[in-house]
Parts: sequence; C-alpha cells; structure tokens
Amino acid sequence: MVNENGVSLDKHCKSVYQRIKGNCCDEWKSNRLTFYGWYKDRLAKQEVLCEYCHLRGDTMLHYKRRFRPNRKGGFNRGLHLEVDRRISKDKDGPTKYEPTNCVLACYPCNNAKSDVFTYDEFRQIGEMICKVKKGC
Ligand SMILES: [Zn+2]
Repeated sequence: MVNENGVSLDKHCKSVYQRIKGNCCDEWKSNRLTFYGWYKDRLAKQEVLCEYCHLRGDTMLHYKRRFRPNRKGGFNRGLHLEVDRRISKDKDGPTKYEPTNCVLACYPCNNAKSDVFTYDEFRQIGEMICKVKKGC
C-alpha cells in the first residue's frame, strides 16, 4: 500500500518499528511482523484517521507541510499516522509500546500530547483541532 505521498506503508512501519523497538513488548520485539500486523489492523480500525483529531496522517493535507527534514531532502514526520502510547509513563517510569497501550496519531497530535497530556485530555484537545482544521 502506498499513500498519497508515495511512502509505502511497509517502509513506514519499518521506520516506526526502529523508533519503538527498544521499548516495546516482547511480542513485537521478538518479531517485527507482529507489529506491522498490529499497525495495519489498527489503521483499518481507526479508518486511517488520527485517534485524537480524526484527520489523516499525511500532514500536507491539513497543515500544508511536513516535519523534521532529513538529510535526503525528504521529511521524517508527517507522512503517516504514528504510534502513540495512551499512557506514556507511570510510577515505574516509561511504559512499553504494546497493543493495549497504543493508538495511532498524526504527528502534530503525537508531538503535542507528548507526556504532558493524558489520553482523555488529548481526546478533548483533538476534538478542537478537528473543528478548527476540518470544521466537523
Ligand atoms: Zn491528530
């Protein structure tokens, strides 16, 4: 599958996996294909829309730009939905990336939520982003 910006979903999954593999659950750590499968199932479940703002992952569509330029003349962020931990840290420290703790979010939402807002707080913020950007 290739999206509007020509970046294949498999290539994107691989790049996301590289970012999270150091802190993901044993299942995903032992077999990256289980992560790719989860990502694609989740994408279908969310109807290819961000969990928070309900916009598509390609930020060019709503923000007219992408983020984090790379040395190859492209961009590293804003191409597809990213993996966000609903709860990013607890009393024991950072939480793991695992199916029950993860949703897909666009780069602006993922970046803004950070570990500053809770899942429920950012759902409310996402509704406002949706109204501003899409008028829904
Ligand atoms: Zn979003």
